[in-house]
Amino acid sequence: MYQGIGASAGIGIGKAVLIRQAELDWSGVVFQGAAAEKERLHKAIAAFIDKTNAMADAMRARVGEKQAEILTGQVLMVGDPFMSSQMEENIDRGLCAEAAVDGVCAMYIDMFSQVEDELTRQRASDVKDLRARLISILMGKESVDLASLPAGSILVAHDFTPSMTAGIQRQHVEAVVTEVGGVTSHSAILARTMELPAALSVPGIMSAVQDGDILVVDGGEGQVLVNPDPAVVQEYRERQARLAADKAALAAYRDRPTLTADGQTRELFCNIGSPKDTEKVLEATGEGIGLFRTEFLFMDRASLPTEEEQFEAYRQVAQAMGGREVIIRTLDVGGDKEIPYLGMEKEDNPFLGFRAIRYCLQRREMFTAQLRALLRASAYGKVKIMLPLVTCIEELRQTRVLLGQLKEELAAQDIPFDKDIKLGVMIETPAAALISDLLAREADFFSIGTNDLTQYTMAVDRGNSAVAYLYSPLQPAVLRSIRTIIRNGREAGIPVGMCGEAAADPLMIPLLIAFGLTEFSVSATSVLATRRAIASWSQSEAERLAEEVMALSDSDGIKAYLKAAVSKH
Ligand code: PEP
Ligand code: MG
Repeated sequence: MYQGIGASAGIGIGKAVLIRQAELDWSGVVFQGAAAEKERLHKAIAAFIDKTNAMADAMRARVGEKQAEILTGQVLMVGDPFMSSQMEENIDRGLCAEAAVDGVCAMYIDMFSQVEDELTRQRASDVKDLRARLISILMGKESVDLASLPAGSILVAHDFTPSMTAGIQRQHVEAVVTEVGGVTSHSAILARTMELPAALSVPGIMSAVQDGDILVVDGGEGQVLVNPDPAVVQEYRERQARLAADKAALAAYRDRPTLTADGQTRELFCNIGSPKDTEKVLEATGEGIGLFRTEFLFMDRASLPTEEEQFEAYRQVAQAMGGREVIIRTLDVGGDKEIPYLGMEKEDNPFLGFRAIRYCLQRREMFTAQLRALLRASAYGKVKIMLPLVTCIEELRQTRVLLGQLKEELAAQDIPFDKDIKLGVMIETPAAALISDLLAREADFFSIGTNDLTQYTMAVDRGNSAVAYLYSPLQPAVLRSIRTIIRNGREAGIPVGMCGEAAADPLMIPLLIAFGLTEFSVSATSVLATRRAIASWSQSEAERLAEEVMALSDSDGIKAYLKAAVSKH
């Protein structure tokens, strides 16, 4: 078995088709003079643009606008006069058009590859795709045609580029396997959109597989089996059928209220990182936004977004959600979330340092711009404001005072806003959990951030694999904390939600119902499964289970107990 990264869930069974990129060796190409090379270059660019636009049209029709944008992005890049003038400069230095393209692209690839941010790094593979295709056009070599693949094909390639995806007929391709690429690469995103099982970054797979080999790809686990026994293939066919049946059953949970088995309503919201994500939320029938991580508006750019830019983003989300609740979290930077232009100092213990609400309260101007933008957006929907990493009540009080001043300012300027806007806190530190009774008197709502709450309660860095065995919300310490937070919130009569990953965990769901959680905020892809899991428990059943679980003393025991209870439920 070959192990890679599971990038798009599902099981594909079929015959291997190896995609080898044409050899692009231009050492034999003779420089024909600057004018002739520039003419070749511009003809090739024009042909590239035509071809890519046609591919984008096909992609738009078959998959969607967002996916087509990945290709039109290449058109914009190659059409950028700055890029072509750099290529011309190379030609003026005596390089043939192929070498000129290669040199300029290599520079961009280098530049993008060095950036920390994963999404920017992905742009390096877009430029690689662009380079290979532009040079193939210059050399008159055909690029791989995927449109005529036989049914039941599994594509095996070094890399799976956006332009390759454009040619794929989904009904003929069972899965894709590559040697490079990560979960957030464009190819992975495209594969997920096309619901095409994908195992990426499988080392050495191109040499391990031959055309026509039988492959089984588990895109959830990132595993590839080459020529397995027929009995194993049969086993996977059965799993494939079960997955398909499960998917069909989940569809029944679209567009219906989220109710427990005994008919109590729970709210099922979504976590988003940008206004565009609201499309997926609405598609998944999410009932609101439980966490908008605004730090993404601040990343991947060179300076602070202005109040106006932020207002636009928040307004878009509020309007897109059409009056449904939208909880927007103020900037959560620091820790592992670095924004280079803020010039934050390197700290010995960034997770215990100058981050989130602590940072915002010290950067008044920046915080004011965000709060003003949030207040202004509140005139366009049901916006609520939420503070991250609160550890003491003063952080809430200081923000409330500032918010009050800004409200007066806006009122004086006749700028509309929701006068009754709610201000809540994330409970994601042990300190906040321990004073949740006090916080509940002054906060309008709570949202439990189990990702950080687990990290801080267990004193475990959430990104450190050496101590990952301790990182579980099923640790009794974390479960007790969650139970107390919800109880304190309920006693004070404020809504308590959860926006950490645990909200979508089927093992946690009965416990959360038992504790009295009112709102679950999960990723758009988890909405239907979470709605189904909530529907399968009545309050009394969940309470009975929780009572037994809370009497257990270790997380492994709790996990095993819950697994057994959930599977036979
Ligand atoms: C959390 O800590 O649970 C949370 C939702 O916030 P983030 O993952 O953005 O830190
Ligand atoms: Mg957090």
